[in-house]
Amino acid sequence: MARTNESGNSLHTHRRRCRKRVRRTRWPLTLFCMCFILSAAVWALHAAKAVSVPMSPLDPSEQLEEPEIPEVPKAPEVPEPSEMPEVDPPAPDPLPEDPGTVSPDDWQLLLVNRWNPIPDGYTFELTQLKQGHAVDARAYPDLQEMMDACRAAGLDPKICSSYRTQDKQQELYENKIQRLMDEGYSYERAVEEAGTVVAVPGTSEHQTGLALDIVDASYQILDEEQENTQVQQWLMEHSWEYGFVLRYPNGKSETTGIIYEPWHYRYVGREAAREMTELGLCLEEYVAWLSAQ
Ligand SMILES: [Zn+2]
Repeated sequence: MARTNESGNSLHTHRRRCRKRVRRTRWPLTLFCMCFILSAAVWALHAAKAVSVPMSPLDPSEQLEEPEIPEVPKAPEVPEPSEMPEVDPPAPDPLPEDPGTVSPDDWQLLLVNRWNPIPDGYTFELTQLKQGHAVDARAYPDLQEMMDACRAAGLDPKICSSYRTQDKQQELYENKIQRLMDEGYSYERAVEEAGTVVAVPGTSEHQTGLALDIVDASYQILDEEQENTQVQQWLMEHSWEYGFVLRYPNGKSETTGIIYEPWHYRYVGREAAREMTELGLCLEEYVAWLSAQ
């Protein structure tokens, strides 16, 4: 019995030891298993990520509306340099260094004064104007344009003298001499004086059909006050644009042989008129300048 008890106690003790041993050996196993499961889970997660699952196409009604992207306003198209419109800067009108195409022998530069009478046999075609006036037909288009432009500016220019025949010039000249003699001049002095106001027959520009006396309708007197009229102010500024120049300007009487006449315009052509205006030359000076080129 005692032995039985003894053996029973030893068995009990043995089992307890065994259980402890088992407990000791199960603990690392459990740890190992947990590590394995954890590793497997991590691997599975990675694998799931790596596998791409094709998306089933959405039914149009199911598709999410794409966010509307506001349209970015287009920048204005900048043309290529070659397409850029060529805009030349306004070039100043330089004074001519040479006379260009104008020649002192041109018909419109015919120099007629007390020292240069109209050439023998000089002929030209006349264009008849209203009220018995007439001009060289070659000057007519520019004259018409100038008169139209002056009227368009609200002014009222009036031609009071144009082409004259030799007889008409003779009549005017003799009348002037007579008036001067009536004022007390001797015949010699009257002839001398008349020649500075009314050209000696054969030496008047009016006989060439290239000259016109133009006045302001509001002041039809041929004296220096004429320069203050609006028509003269306009003509003195613009006549060169149409090929006309004030033929007997102030301060040039010794060169022209004629007193200052702020009403007598002479056609010289547009290019010559522009050059004469820019250079400040009267016709005698301009023809001499051209001849010296
Ligand atoms: Zn005149």
